[in-house]
Amino acid sequence: VSRKDLPASGRIVSRNPATGEAIGDVPSAGENEAREAVAAARAAQPGWEAAGFERRAQVLLRFRDILIDRAEEVAALITRENGKTLQESVAMEILPVADLTTFFASRAHRILAPKPIRLRLLRHRASYVHYRPRGVVLVISPWNYPFSIATGEIVMALVAGNAVVHKPSSLTPLIALKTRELMAQAGLPDDAFRVVTGPGPLASSMVEMGVHYVSFTGSTETGARVAEACGRNLIPCRMELGGKDPAIVCADASPQRTVNALVWGGFGNAGQSCASIERVYVHTKVYDSILQQLVERTRRLRLGDPLSHDCDVGAITDARQLEVIERHVADAVARGARLMCGGRRREGPGLFYEPTVLADVTEEMAVMREETFGPLLPVARVASDEEAIERANDSEYGLTACLFTRNRRRALRLAGQLRFGTVMVNDAMSTHGVPETPWGGLRRSGIGRTHSEDGLRALCEPHHVNYDRLPSPRREPYWQPYSKRVYRTLITAMRVLMRSGVRAKLRAFDRRN
Ligand code: NAD
Repeated sequence: VSRKDLPASGRIVSRNPATGEAIGDVPSAGENEAREAVAAARAAQPGWEAAGFERRAQVLLRFRDILIDRAEEVAALITRENGKTLQESVAMEILPVADLTTFFASRAHRILAPKPIRLRLLRHRASYVHYRPRGVVLVISPWNYPFSIATGEIVMALVAGNAVVHKPSSLTPLIALKTRELMAQAGLPDDAFRVVTGPGPLASSMVEMGVHYVSFTGSTETGARVAEACGRNLIPCRMELGGKDPAIVCADASPQRTVNALVWGGFGNAGQSCASIERVYVHTKVYDSILQQLVERTRRLRLGDPLSHDCDVGAITDARQLEVIERHVADAVARGARLMCGGRRREGPGLFYEPTVLADVTEEMAVMREETFGPLLPVARVASDEEAIERANDSEYGLTACLFTRNRRRALRLAGQLRFGTVMVNDAMSTHGVPETPWGGLRRSGIGRTHSEDGLRALCEPHHVNYDRLPSPRREPYWQPYSKRVYRTLITAMRVLMRSGVRAKLRAFDRRN
């Protein structure tokens, strides 16, 4: 049970991780409330679907406008409840949602337009595919991007005509309720989007309450549990799970760009991103100089009050995470890693960990295999690009990977060898904020993709209609009654149509072939 899961009192108290003070409380729903929310969403969904693309886009664009107008209020709430810096609340949470909403609200009608399909054999008939909403989408979301991850999924589901029930992390319920408030202000029908605040396991039972699709973002362990519940009930789902994302630094990388990107990818959001850089492989030719510059740059990062503008690294949202970070550092040092800077909690109120660089790490250390989810960059020396690729691929996780090189051809060649959902060249962590591109991982990083045209279509059922283009004959030649003549004709027709080469086709008329 996490810090803020307090079902005993019937309320979840939300605390500011940077100060420890309570900033509000919300009901801790039980199964009855959750069931009621799902039923209400099911009842509201047909009306929302019938409203059509134009009306839905109008409401969502109004939501975007309200969000932009009230951006500073929302940013302050995100910072107070989650602990990231104010600039991160805007750059990593609010701006991406405003952009994603613009993209999907203005494109959904085209992405989901009925698709005509020409048939090759049955030419007198034709097909089209409609993309119908699934029904009720259950969105289960984590605390690390409490606004952008949840709201991105909610907007995509709504724009396609689904109703949504959202179960936010119990560490960040106030932000979820704020999203609902903004949606209501934009004119979204009340029951088309319901929020259920409650303890984690409630989300698993909600899978069985009559939802039609589950969008889960969170840890691999919990995701597997939710996927199991989906499997038992044959509910389709997508799973956006953990990461152990590598960065590969080639000998010809631009040192400044690389070091700045490593700092951004490793310490942005205090390292609490699924796509944080969590392993760095540096070519031996530049290892010492990159390491030295990285340590210098890391030492200059300011820990502090995330609500002030003099802070580069915010708080750790979940106290349990501090223990993981400490265990990984201790294990690495015990096994021979060099602690270059950081390596400590900050004393005093609030949950903070100093940005930390470890050098000379090896693959058997926990810090290279398990997700750390904190401001920690372990750096390893590699003898070649090939070694870097091999070590990067050798992971249970497969969300994103980064490559640093000034040679575009090398970059694209190496990118092709990396087995990850996304490869970024000379950049890190940024493409979750790009709604046009698919987001998701391989192996234990998840199942399916979100964002992108495919990610939107996944929130729909392809509804196939096959019809007669030309007036239909009384019966098709291959219907009953069956006969030897039709049987032979089918064999010959198949050989003529599908064999390659004219000679082979002609042979079809010879009974012996
Ligand atoms: P978490 O798995 O603890 O919680 C995620 C959600 O599941 C929360 O809403 C929580 O209340 C709920 N939950 C908890 N126990 C549950 C249970 N037994 N059954 C059903 N639901 C339950 O994850 P977290 O700690 O909030 O988030 C951090 C994790 O999320 C990290 O592993 C991170 O890598 C991952 N993540 C992945 C992505 C991605 O896009 N791939 C993005 C962000 C975070």
